[in-house]
Amino acid sequence: AELKELEFVEDIGHGSCGTVSKCSYQSVTMAVKTMPRTTNSYEMSRILMDLDVICLSFDCPYIVRCFGYFITSYDVRVCMECMATCLDRLLVRIQKPIPEDIIGKLSISIIKALHYLKTKHQIMHRDVKPSNILLDWSGVIKLCDFGIAGRLIESRAHSKQAGCPLYMGPERLDPNNFNSYDIRSDVWSLGLTLVELATGKYPYAGTEFDMMTKIMNDEPPRLNPGKFSPEFCHLVEICLQRDPNNRPNYDQLLDHPFIKYHEEQDTDVEEWFANVMGDSD
Ligand code: ADP
Ligand code: MG
Repeated sequence: AELKELEFVEDIGHGSCGTVSKCSYQSVTMAVKTMPRTTNSYEMSRILMDLDVICLSFDCPYIVRCFGYFITSYDVRVCMECMATCLDRLLVRIQKPIPEDIIGKLSISIIKALHYLKTKHQIMHRDVKPSNILLDWSGVIKLCDFGIAGRLIESRAHSKQAGCPLYMGPERLDPNNFNSYDIRSDVWSLGLTLVELATGKYPYAGTEFDMMTKIMNDEPPRLNPGKFSPEFCHLVEICLQRDPNNRPNYDQLLDHPFIKYHEEQDTDVEEWFANVMGDSD
């Protein structure tokens, strides 16, 4: 395929490292993410490796399919399957929290996607947050934007920081500790994302500086035990621990009673999604 064969349809959104637009190629609709390319050739080769991983990840049903990519002298364009919406927009649209049984199903998909990236490709996501969790019209939940987005930001900012700071674990915000983030930083981001979905809002407030100070110094957020099941409260509590070594790994998460319980349920995410999208029109 050639770049000029992609037909622009409409803008989907802008993010920390590029823009996403809906495009069609022959009769297929795709989401194309355009990111400025880095001038550092070492970084560029790492990005290409990540892109190959993304394109190879079609054997995981919880990861957004990638059809391929284009590299021009100015930018990198990644062609992905086009999903119905992402969770941050969905929250804005519905103006209320997502019910616990839907979050149960969602958690299963996200943890499986992260587990897959770790075991199959030895990579961490680095940017787990509601805008990187997507839903399609049949209620299928998928993760997108791992590795690559982080690398691009990293190479441009000349720092070890990658991803959105508001979802980073306290260890990643500590300037004395920049190099030491590991896979369990994603577990913190997951916990914070679950709190946001369950309550309908991001748990910290204030300026970005205030929020980062709170993430580093305050007790981590917890769910109100009067409103959520003990299993859900417990899952969030173990993910949101300041010491990364105390956080669970993916095998432990997949064995957690909250996950086990929701695997047994036949919650209809598709129906819920159709209803909330219908209601808010
Ligand atoms: P962010 O840092 O907010 O994730 P992105 O550039 O990754 O920014 O994405 C911009 C917007 O496009 C977000 O709202 C995101 O959910 C949406 N988006 C990204 N990929 C897709 C896709 N494959 N299908 C539909 N929407 C997408
Ligand atoms: Mg994104």
